[in-house]
Amino acid sequence: MERNNAPGSAIVVGAGIIGLSIALRLRMDGCQVIVIDNNAPMSGVSSGNAGYLSEANIFPPATPDLLRRLPRLMLDKDAPLVVQPRYAPRLLPWAWRAVAALRPQPYQAVLSNMAALTAQAIAAFDELTREASAQHLASRDGGLVAFKSEAALDAKCRALSVWNSYGLAAERVSAASVRELEPALCQDIAGGIFYPNAGRCSNPRGLGEHYARRLVALGGTILRDEVRAVRQAAPARAEVVTTNGTHSAASVVVAAGYRSGPLLAQLGYRVPLAAERGYHLMLPDAGISLRRPVVFGEPFFAATPMDEGLRLAGTAEFAHADAKPDMGRANMLLRLARAYLPGIRGAAAKPWMGVRPSFPDGMPAIGRVGHAPSVFYAFGHAHSGLTTSAITARCVSSLVRDMPPPLELSAFRLERFH
Ligand SMILES: Cc1cc2nc3c(=O)[nH]c(=O)nc-3n(C[C@H](O)[C@H](O)[C@H](O)COP(=O)(O)OP(=O)(O)OC[C@H]3O[C@@H](n4cnc5c(N)ncnc54)[C@H](O)[C@@H]3O)c2cc1C
Repeated sequence: MERNNAPGSAIVVGAGIIGLSIALRLRMDGCQVIVIDNNAPMSGVSSGNAGYLSEANIFPPATPDLLRRLPRLMLDKDAPLVVQPRYAPRLLPWAWRAVAALRPQPYQAVLSNMAALTAQAIAAFDELTREASAQHLASRDGGLVAFKSEAALDAKCRALSVWNSYGLAAERVSAASVRELEPALCQDIAGGIFYPNAGRCSNPRGLGEHYARRLVALGGTILRDEVRAVRQAAPARAEVVTTNGTHSAASVVVAAGYRSGPLLAQLGYRVPLAAERGYHLMLPDAGISLRRPVVFGEPFFAATPMDEGLRLAGTAEFAHADAKPDMGRANMLLRLARAYLPGIRGAAAKPWMGVRPSFPDGMPAIGRVGHAPSVFYAFGHAHSGLTTSAITARCVSSLVRDMPPPLELSAFRLERFH
């Protein structure tokens, strides 16, 4: 048994962008920190995302016709959202909850809670990147969604008043402005939506690696081991049981992405997480250049300029997390991108798949375990875990240190599913 019972000691389970941000923040706030991951830091979904820092991702995942479309989604392999038939029985209760989140009152609650989180996300992100000397990996040139269909653009523009009502900047832009912003886009663009405050990370894996190095430089530790259980061991002490032993500390934070579910289920929680798998295709020699993340409005995935080339990333595939990846979905992104970026080249393209941890209401779980008060959790960041990583870290650090959090957190607790 390894004990670290200093009042400010903490163990963080998971070295993805959420766990590493929390670990670095806790260290900056004076805690002794150990991170435990069964893989190298940044081996999970955090390494392959689209690098888009977007405040606008505040809507629940379901749309009113999700259940109606479910049978078709199980059959159409090329749709932006697919459900593997074997996963459907597992997804049905999730889909039911997702549809319930569309009722007016819960819907409004999700919007205001998510807007409160994302509104502070980018300032918190800047603070962590500065601490880790990783500012060169982040830039702020806005984000663009480009549409070919006027009807699809009109439909999306209904969200403008929602964003603006929460102080999140978003504006409709003409076809000419879209092409001026991104000259590589095709001629038949109907228009777009521009988010002036959005930003980009040009190397998501590298960013986490900077955090890990800074953490270690500040005296933190990163261990490679699999966590089997987390529990309250004494009034002010929690324990982490791993394959190779037991560790204890004043606080334990579970930030193990999609695999957090079983650890919290052992503590009596219902954790309705879906495995929403996403794909990317990395193009080292795309032959065109973009200045910022561009989302293609109709198929709804992003193209982001990265240090290694152009990354096409997105789509949603609900499937068992460990099922064999269907790399055809990554390759499909190039075919769909050609309709928007006529000059794009696919030479030496590299496909990738990662598992988003997605809750049916689209909100992450951030909180403290009521009956195990030395145990905390932060996972389920779905489509916006990079964006909200640093603000999540600030929230968790305040909970751990019994300080007022930067935003009201009660709605983010897992109790919402009971
Ligand atoms: C295609 C795609 C594009 C995306 N684009 C964006 C974007 O542009 N912007 C954005 O903000 N977000 C984006 N996201 C979402 C974002 O990547 C995720 O929300 C975020 O990475 C989740 O981070 P995490 O740390 O919770 O999970 P992970 O990165 O999966 O980290 C969890 C870690 O926990 C470890 N672990 C698990 N179980 C155990 C255990 N029992 N013991 C020890 N360690 C354990 C794992 O090994 C892993 O390292 C995208 C996602 C995808 C798939």
